[in-house]
Amino acid sequence: MGGIPIEKALSALGNVLNGLKNKIPFLKNGNEEATIIDGKKIAADIRLEIKAEVDALKTKYGGRVPGLAVVIVGERKDSQTYVRMKRKACDEVGIHSFHSELPETISEEELIDVVKKYNENPDCHGILVQLPLPKHIDEEKVLGVISLEKDVDGFHPLNIGMLAMKGHEPLFMPCTPKGSIVLLERSGVELKGKNAVVVGRSNIVGMPASMMLNKKDCTVTVVHSRTKNPKEICRQADILIAAAGSAKMIKGDWIKKGAAVIDVGTNSVEDKSKKSGYALVGDVDFDEAKKRASFITPVPGGVGPMTIAMLLQNCLDGGKRAIESTK
Ligand code: NAP
Repeated sequence: MGGIPIEKALSALGNVLNGLKNKIPFLKNGNEEATIIDGKKIAADIRLEIKAEVDALKTKYGGRVPGLAVVIVGERKDSQTYVRMKRKACDEVGIHSFHSELPETISEEELIDVVKKYNENPDCHGILVQLPLPKHIDEEKVLGVISLEKDVDGFHPLNIGMLAMKGHEPLFMPCTPKGSIVLLERSGVELKGKNAVVVGRSNIVGMPASMMLNKKDCTVTVVHSRTKNPKEICRQADILIAAAGSAKMIKGDWIKKGAAVIDVGTNSVEDKSKKSGYALVGDVDFDEAKKRASFITPVPGGVGPMTIAMLLQNCLDGGKRAIESTK
């Protein structure tokens, strides 16, 4: 009699169970380690999707593509590297990039004029002012000049305000926390109704991350430097986002069994085994935490690659809105 050979049937069943284990943490047995969330792979997939959308836009609207203006002041090597990476990423997906490289001595008024010109340029749909700015320039004042529709970093107080308010959606959300949420969603982690803890409350990561989780119907607690019992609070977390900038502060016994852990922290620590003499580590003690979590991001290779992918996504969204409304 025909039928499926028993080995094949067992193997198929095994695959189904493995898939389920990734979705349902309690199916993991006590000794199993977390699924590592591959931020590099997810970011690469997103970049391909963005390229396809940019190509489609270009075909449909007579060659028009999203445009990003990158403004850099001074000659900080780290800022120059970030800006180079962002421009290269734009090129790869077909987003046009404008570039203003300004001297350290530029006045606040002159810099504001540069931003205003990009506000008026119809081919520019996103403006990014690389931080930090020199001390004689008021960063908030400059960022506040960027038009709301071109605020691809998502730092404008009105965009942050709309993120906080029920019934409102911001035009853009800050890239690093947005990338953290996308990592959870693309890994199949359910957010609705879950206890989420965010360690850190900075304007660029912790605070917007907590508001995004709230919008996703998590019950959110924020831990900061004055929190009295951070370990006990973290142990309640089904979802833990660490963004404190403190190397390996979150130990294995801070993690609830089966939690999904996103480590935003990027800390450089001495490591004599490395040629450079240092290594990058997260805020979470990865080796300990992976024995308790169901999902975890590595550092590097977790949240890092998502930040630029989300910047490209924001540029695409801004470009699409502008191009489609002026067709
Ligand atoms: P930040 O501005 O220095 O803010 C750190 C936050 O963590 C603050 O809210 C601080 O509390 C809190 N904190 C510090 N030490 C703590 C402790 N021991 N216990 C509890 N809370 C503590 O840093 P950030 O800009 O948000 O960045 C956070 C980390 O993410 C850094 O390692 C940074 O390098 C990394 N990062 C990575 C990316 C990426 O693309 N992967 C992007 C941005 C940032 P208070 O408010 O009370 O001071």
